[in-house]
Amino acid sequence: MLLTTILPCRIFNHPMTLADYVHTFGQHMLRRHGQRVHKIALDAGLTCPNRDGSKGRGGCTFCNNVSFSPHARQKKSIAEQLASGRQAIAKCTRAQQYLAYFQAYTNTYADVQHLDQLYRSAMAAPDVIGISVGTRPDCVPDAVLDLLVSYQQQGYEVWLELGLQSAFDDTLTRINRGHNLDSYRHTVHAARQRGIPVCTHLIVGLPGESDYHYHTSLDTVLALGVDGLKLHPLHVVRGTQLANQWRQGSYVPLKQQDYCRIAADLIERTPADIIFHRMTGTAARDILLAPDWCAGKWTVLNGIEAELKRRHHCQGTLAHPRPKLEIAHAA
Ligand code: SF4
Repeated sequence: MLLTTILPCRIFNHPMTLADYVHTFGQHMLRRHGQRVHKIALDAGLTCPNRDGSKGRGGCTFCNNVSFSPHARQKKSIAEQLASGRQAIAKCTRAQQYLAYFQAYTNTYADVQHLDQLYRSAMAAPDVIGISVGTRPDCVPDAVLDLLVSYQQQGYEVWLELGLQSAFDDTLTRINRGHNLDSYRHTVHAARQRGIPVCTHLIVGLPGESDYHYHTSLDTVLALGVDGLKLHPLHVVRGTQLANQWRQGSYVPLKQQDYCRIAADLIERTPADIIFHRMTGTAARDILLAPDWCAGKWTVLNGIEAELKRRHHCQGTLAHPRPKLEIAHAA
């Protein structure tokens, strides 16, 4: 006899997978659009106000500044990037529809006419059903939100992805983030008030943080209202201030089993209707310094699944209010 929650865990008539424990973006899109929809990550050639002095200089301590070199940037057009993204996705899924994911740097950091051109150039492809725009919380003017709403009104799927990383202002200062919780609070409110769904990014393993910080950051984001979440482990990559701290021994990365444990904590505290767009993140091997396990995602995802299974918990089990517990009998 096992204790489990009804949703999103399913009754045990088939082998359980991570998608049975967590409400994932893939499941959400399948239900909403009746078929698989995959994000294609794009680099629109924009930069970041935390580098050029308009919000800060030097960038976040974990951000690979070397990649800001024009030679390291994506030279392909949006159409070419979509074409190579489709090819890569076709090797692992049967997705026939896509979201254009403006991922690299700050994708609202340009005048609104230019952004409109960029976003529309992606949505011009018939199999691109919408966009997901990744940005900083202090760089989303009302005009950009209104632009996103106009796409929704035309029937496109639209997400705004906000990199908060931590809800603690002293952590944000320590990592030279250049914004505070208040700017996040303002933007998440303005976006959700317009009906734009927000996916918030949180990093686990930031310098000076512990379980208390991870749990409190999540609780703060949930209390402010959110539609989706992305969890990332902090990884140390070349060309960053964090790399210097790691070499000097003042920053020690998380172990994989600790990340899986904390990710499971956060998942079980998150209400079942919130969509997990991602539960871990990877870095390219040629720039990754530590921890090694951040080179791949599957062992991490398997570790999170194993931890939830061990606890007999799934997303929402410890959310407030707690979902009703039901007794399920193993077959
Ligand atoms: S992590 Fe994002 S906000 Fe920070 S410096 Fe890099 S691009 Fe800018």
